[in-house]
Amino acid sequence: MLDADFFRRWMTVTAASVNREAERLTALDSPIGDADHGTNLQRGFTAVTAALEKEAPDTPGGVLTLAGRQLISTVGGASGPLYGTLLRRTGKALGDAAEVSAEQLAEALRAGVDAVMTLGGAAPGDKTMIDALVPAVDVLGDSFAAARTAAEEGAVATTPLLARKGRASYLGERSIGHQDPGATSAALLVAGLVEASG
Ligand code: ADP
Ligand code: MG
Ligand code: MG
Repeated sequence: MLDADFFRRWMTVTAASVNREAERLTALDSPIGDADHGTNLQRGFTAVTAALEKEAPDTPGGVLTLAGRQLISTVGGASGPLYGTLLRRTGKALGDAAEVSAEQLAEALRAGVDAVMTLGGAAPGDKTMIDALVPAVDVLGDSFAAARTAAEEGAVATTPLLARKGRASYLGERSIGHQDPGATSAALLVAGLVEASG
């Protein structure tokens, strides 16, 4: 079972990997965006870890809804409301249980990803974070490691796609040949589940 500590670790290790990979995320956002994805997420996850230390929510749902709120209020870019919605909706689906199973988390994340698709209007294949999140959620019931692999492969598979949502879509055909920054950061978030379990 996964308790609030696990979810706090998930957010903390994700914040650390966002810091580690910030330059790469920003570099990916340079040819097909405005070169701020790494700094956007660094600002957001720094606020997340600070808020979690201060408030220390004692349920999985409480951790994720607080984290989501921080992302929405601190990240200027498109990714803030989208990741914020992902975590808030997932947290809401977990309710006020003190512990949840991996299956419950998989189901809740599915609701979170659906909310991101509703908010942003992106579908799989549009070259967004959705291309890493959907394949990950599809296999999350098997294992976190399987979800990590699926997210990483989903991120790499955005390279040949034409962007249909977000800033990269303004480039039309010129968006082809570049890996999507948001799909890349989504893979970091999913990888955090494995790290938090270790
Ligand atoms: P901004 O584009 O406002 O500068 P970021 O650079 O932080 O914001 O985030 C860009 C990422 O957000 C993209 O790489 C993409 O994965 C994701 N994104 C943008 N728009 C959407 C959308 N409508 N639905 C899902 N993801 C999106
Ligand atoms: Mg950007
Ligand atoms: Mg921006």
